[in-house]
Order: sequence, then C-alpha cells, then structure tokens
Amino acid sequence: MRVDLQFDHDHLWHPYTSTLNPLPCYPAIGADGVYIHLETGEALIDGMSSWWSAIHGYNHPLLNSAAKSQIDKMSHVMFGGLTHAPAVELGKKLLSMAGFDHLFLADSGSVSVEVALKMALQYWHSKGEARSKFLTLRHGYHGDTFAAMSVTDPDNSMHRLYKGFLPEHIFADSPQGQFHQPWDPADFASFRAQFLAHHPSLAAVILEPIVQGAGGMRLYHPQFLREVRALCDEYGVLLIADEIATGFGRTGKLFACEHAGIKADILCVGKALTGGYMTLSATMTTSDVANTVCGGEAGCFMHGPTFMGNPLACAVADASMTLLQSGEWQQQVAAIEQSFATLLPSLRQHASVKDVRWLGAIGVVELHRPVDMIKIQAHFVEKGVWIRPFGKLIYMMPPFISSHDHLCQLVDAIDSALEKDLLAQ
Ligand SMILES: *Cc1c(COP(=O)(O)O)cnc(C)c1O
Repeated sequence: MRVDLQFDHDHLWHPYTSTLNPLPCYPAIGADGVYIHLETGEALIDGMSSWWSAIHGYNHPLLNSAAKSQIDKMSHVMFGGLTHAPAVELGKKLLSMAGFDHLFLADSGSVSVEVALKMALQYWHSKGEARSKFLTLRHGYHGDTFAAMSVTDPDNSMHRLYKGFLPEHIFADSPQGQFHQPWDPADFASFRAQFLAHHPSLAAVILEPIVQGAGGMRLYHPQFLREVRALCDEYGVLLIADEIATGFGRTGKLFACEHAGIKADILCVGKALTGGYMTLSATMTTSDVANTVCGGEAGCFMHGPTFMGNPLACAVADASMTLLQSGEWQQQVAAIEQSFATLLPSLRQHASVKDVRWLGAIGVVELHRPVDMIKIQAHFVEKGVWIRPFGKLIYMMPPFISSHDHLCQLVDAIDSALEKDLLAQ
C-alpha cells in the first residue's frame, strides 16, 4: 500500500511541526544496514541513527531474531507481580556494564528522567530533609514531559509558554570550553556559584555528561564533570547523569561519564538501548539511593507504568547489549571519529560555518545562520543521504557500522549544501 502523504499532511502531527504549515515528509518503506529506503526509490545513507538510536544499523539479524522469537512466546505481561527472562537478563547486563545495583525500566527517555527526579525527591523525603530543587545547565535537554522540561534549557523549551505549570529550578551557565581545548577553571565559576548559593535546597544536579545534545550539540571538557562530582560529594547532593543520548558507545566510551572517570548516583539511558527498535529506557541507581528511597514513609518507589519491562523491548535490548559486549563498537566508533577528523576540518572554508567539532561517532557543523529546512532536506535526499539539521546545526550521529565511504558521502552532501548556501535568508 502506498503511503497516503495527503492524509499524513492533513492529520498527523510530526515532532515539533505545525498543523497549519507542516514541513514536507518523505515516505520510508524499509531500512537495512545504514540505508533508509524511500517509496520514491531513493536509498539514503542514514546520518542520524534515527535520533541516536539505531547504533547497529537497521534490520540487524540478531535484533530481528530476538524480536521474532520473543513475540512467539509473549509480547507483554504486566510487571506487577510477574517477571520474565528478557527483563532479568537485560538487567544483569545493564547493571554490570554501568556499575549500578538497581534498575527501573521505563517507557521512554523523558519518563526515565521523571523517574530519576522522583527518586531524588523521595530520597530526601525519606531522610526527612525538605529538598526539592534541581540544579542543571543552560543549553541542556532532558525531554518533553513536564518535570523533564523544567530542567531543560528555558529558552529552547520555551518555559514562558508553560509558566505556572513548570516547577522553577536553578540553571548554571553551560561550559564554554570544548572537549579538546585546555581546561579553564573560570568555566566552572557559574556552576560553583549557583551550587553554593542553593545547595541546602538541592535534591540533585542533573546534566548530560560531556555532550549537550538537542540543546546545541556542545562537547565540553571532562574536568567540568569532575568538578561537579567533587562539589556534589562535598555537600552530599545527588548527581543524575542523563546518558540517554550519550550512552552505549556514542562518544567513544561506553558511557560518557567514563571520559571524566566519574560515576553518577542515578543514571538514565534510553535511545540506543534497544538498538533503535522500539521505545525503552532505564533508570539505574546505587543500593544506597534505592534503599533510602524505599526506607521512607511510602515504603516503596512510587512509579509503575503499564508497559513496564515490556518483554519484546527487553529481549531486543538484551540482544543489543550482547552486540555491545562483543566490543566491536570500540573500533567502529574510533574509525568514525578518525573519518570525522579527516573530513570535517575542510568545511571550515565556508564563510557560513562558525565551527566544526566531533567526538566519537558525533560530527557537528555549526553555522552562523539557520538552515532553510525544506531546501536543505530536499538537497540531502537528492544526494542520497539522510541528515536532519536543526536551527544553525547540521550534525551527524551515524550508525556504528558506517564505513569511511558512507561518511564521505554524508560530509560531501553537507559540503555541497554549504556551497549552494541553502540557509535561511
Ligand atoms: C532524547 C533525549 C531525552 C528524551 O528521550 P525521549 O525518548 O525522546 O523521551 C532525554 N534526555 C536526552 C539527553 C535526550 O537526548
């Protein structure tokens, strides 16, 4: 059956789009390896991993067979009072990979952030301390649900639209120094000042380690994280690491916190958890946090989604963890980083380019002006690639199986777009 584009245009909401003037959408009918196949015949090299998630590529035989064999056993049973091998086996792998004791399975990245924030609030409630503020960074992104949005950059997420509904938290300036630049202690001044001014009311610090993703694709210095960890330790404030985008090898380490050699108290993962097959997220924590949360007045953690621990999603996630444990991702991501290092600097010659940067399997081209979305998207499709910029950022986070040739084609397509100046006027 052909994709009914008119119905889509007239009735279906897409992410961050208008019903009055929806952006054009391209009909996908299949995906395989690094390719997305369009109904119109094009095969596009995917530069986005479907928003950080399809790390092993599409239609992966091991993930497919995990999904198929699980669906014939059971797609879902409630997790209240029942358990199953997919959740248990996934739990064993995840906790040992990340170094935590307790795992909460949730539906999406945003929900895992809600869960993490609730854990922190309940932790202090159990201890009899009134702490309900979170300290976070400007240019951060933690999801689209209300509590997640309240710790997301106030300008990007338009806090003023939801004034009165959103709890007000504390924002420090995001680090200016880049990952590869020398550390400048002044970069920590704003965070330190906000922390010291508010620490008695702080339940936790929440941040994206090393890479601020949707809030600006910023790659910051590991020393910043070490300083955060040290302050949290000194004053007994919890640290929540949101590794929903960075987790599972994307930055060149299994988890981005490893760049700084630190460990959070609560860790959120999502996106690549199922290798991009379906939605699943997890919030992990230490036995100290978990047992304190549950040792309080409520006697338990107050959260339990209907589809918690969905066996299909857990089976695929477990297979994805098996692939990661083989360790092949390390050479793959290192090779992608090497390709970016070879290919990206030449883009600096375009007057429209403000900065290029890369880390692991993340490549970013920051422009002086926003792109013309419709024109640049059409250009990329014509060049046989799938890259979805936002604002002034053209960025790539390709599947780990991408070859140097695939990356050359992605970067060539960006190069020719800049050549044609497909930016907003
Ligand atoms: C995408 C993302 C989220 C939200 O995840 P969803 O699955 O879209 O709800 C939260 N935090 C970070 C860092 C993300 O990149």
